Amino acid sequence: MMDVIKAIASSIKNSKYAVAFTGAGISSESGIPTYRGEGGLWTKYDPNIYANVYYFNKDPSYYWNFFREVRFPMLKKVKPNKAHIAMAEMDVAGYLKTVITQNIDGLHQEAGSSSVIELHGTTRIIHCMSCSKEYSMDEAFSKLETEIPPRCSECKGKLRPAVVFFGETLDPQILRSAYEEAENCDFILSVGSSLVVFPAADIPVKAKQRGATLVIINKESTPLDHLADHVINEEAGNVLPQIVQSLKES
Ligand code: NAD
Repeated sequence: MMDVIKAIASSIKNSKYAVAFTGAGISSESGIPTYRGEGGLWTKYDPNIYANVYYFNKDPSYYWNFFREVRFPMLKKVKPNKAHIAMAEMDVAGYLKTVITQNIDGLHQEAGSSSVIELHGTTRIIHCMSCSKEYSMDEAFSKLETEIPPRCSECKGKLRPAVVFFGETLDPQILRSAYEEAENCDFILSVGSSLVVFPAADIPVKAKQRGATLVIINKESTPLDHLADHVINEEAGNVLPQIVQSLKES
């Protein structure tokens, strides 16, 4: 694997504009389960109930009970892992311009990445569906002690997390800035994504079509492996620190 790591590091070093594209797999070593595959969240919780906008609008209590019992306790205890930290180190060293993430856990920012595009929003912000007032996760959690679903303190409107539910479209401005990154970059590092969720998975494809070097680091193979210049099927927390080390040595 060392030769591939060196080749990836040298490609990053020679790039003018390198970006990363990340998915649930980069956070799995922090203890956040991925959605799909063995042990995935959706094997226990039906996404049509817990992550679907129609169901949320019909009966938000399922989501808020899930938030109270599962989401909140999990996000309160997780920390960025070696992969998030390595990516932030590449940012600080000036190698990585932006991280485009499908994740909603905020761990890239917590690790120190300065430019993060959150395609699917964030669970760390809760907002009022009527007046847009924002609440932290802690504030929303304490509201749940007295009312489910929680209501806005200002206008009594319904609250919701700032995430993109199934059945909703991505924020067009956020999607546009992600596509701009894909068009501008000459190197894209895809980490921990099954690359099956569209339109997100289109971003590495677009970058590759525009001539960027594509590197895929994922525990399992992906449908886009045939497009990649390098593929490493290993844990991100093992691979990314080695790339950082190689960048330091070269
Ligand atoms: P996915 O669940 O479809 O795929 C995750 C991939 O990561 C899998 O192919 C798996 O093999 C790989 N993987 C698991 N552990 C890994 C590790 N340690 N190192 C490298 N690879 C590893 O996830 P996706 O592609 O991001 O798409 C699904 C959707 O899941 C996204 O929309 C995202 O919003 C959402 N999601 C987010 C979180 C989070 O915020 N942490 C968690 C679960 C799901």
